[in-house]
Amino acid sequence: MQTAEQTTANAAQEAWKKRPLIISGPCSAETEEQVLATAQRLAATGRVNMLRAGIWKPRTKPGMFEGIGAKGLPWLQQAKKLTGLPTTVEVATGKQVEDALTFDVDVLWVGARTTVNPFSVQEVADALRGVNVPVLIKNPINPDLELWAGAVERIARAGIKDIGLIHRGFSSYGNTEFRNAPMWHLAIEMKLKHPHMPIINDPSHICGRRDILQEVMQRAIDLDYDGLMIESHIDPDNAWSDAKQQITPERLKEMLEAIIWRKEDSNSAEYHAALEKLRQQINHLDDELMQILSQRMKIAEKIGQYKKDNNITILQTNRWNEIIEKAFAKGDKTGLSKEFITKYFDAVHMESINHQKKVMDA
Ligand code: PEP
Ligand code: MN
Repeated sequence: MQTAEQTTANAAQEAWKKRPLIISGPCSAETEEQVLATAQRLAATGRVNMLRAGIWKPRTKPGMFEGIGAKGLPWLQQAKKLTGLPTTVEVATGKQVEDALTFDVDVLWVGARTTVNPFSVQEVADALRGVNVPVLIKNPINPDLELWAGAVERIARAGIKDIGLIHRGFSSYGNTEFRNAPMWHLAIEMKLKHPHMPIINDPSHICGRRDILQEVMQRAIDLDYDGLMIESHIDPDNAWSDAKQQITPERLKEMLEAIIWRKEDSNSAEYHAALEKLRQQINHLDDELMQILSQRMKIAEKIGQYKKDNNITILQTNRWNEIIEKAFAKGDKTGLSKEFITKYFDAVHMESINHQKKVMDA
């Protein structure tokens, strides 16, 4: 005979191994009714393996809703009892780890604002010593893989065996279509450095809006992510946090059903699937290069405007030689040939001059 506690522990272990691992639930637990209704509607989709809810919310500014606190933990416990869905919450302090474990939370996650802070990560790690619970670690808000890897190492050194990564995008200055730029190449690099860790994509915090969630989900699946964490709410528009990016459980079901799941289900297809995966990675990197080049041209246009206002010539040879010399010096490390660097910079330079000229002639 298994105890109830063992049964849920097994359910959590099973869920952790599910591929794709689909985690969903509200940004924040708000009320008991909201948590229970969300959990039931998510369970009814038949496509969700784990219930998420923020209990303690690190908010950008004081005065915003900072989470319901430990009072919401029994709601999650109840939701698990009703639906069988294992639960996961964000923890940022030792006390939060203790409280979450007291209420049988199955999986903990470290949020992006915590991963950036080694003191906080260490405190969480210390509280986890001797505990057997899976931990997901979100990327830090800034694009720093060492910081992300450092957080993984701190949690691993505390003896945690089941560690997973969550890619939620990186904060960047200025307007982009994303709330947090995905910078897929960074997540891919992190995955390559930790090949045995599952990596989950969090399209909600990457997009910050509903209309582009589907394409980001698809990209993640194309890149062979192990799962998705998507925020859902019974009344998204009136959510107490992250209202713009949440979707109803029913909408989530539709979106999951619209994903093209790429399988490698036959041996003969294995080789092609591997090749396809590499090609997908190249496609995504090419897309990103184009976006970066386009940003570069926009800056060139600003420089053009400045030169126009101040009556300076477009071509400044010194500055150009300096750029090329720097690129050559870095060439060894990047593995790029001198010939390629020269051709590349010539092309970029010409395009840049054309953009500047357009502004100056306007
Ligand atoms: C969240 O998952 O609600 C959250 C706060 O995310 P992040 O740490 O990615 O900002
Ligand atoms: Mn959120």
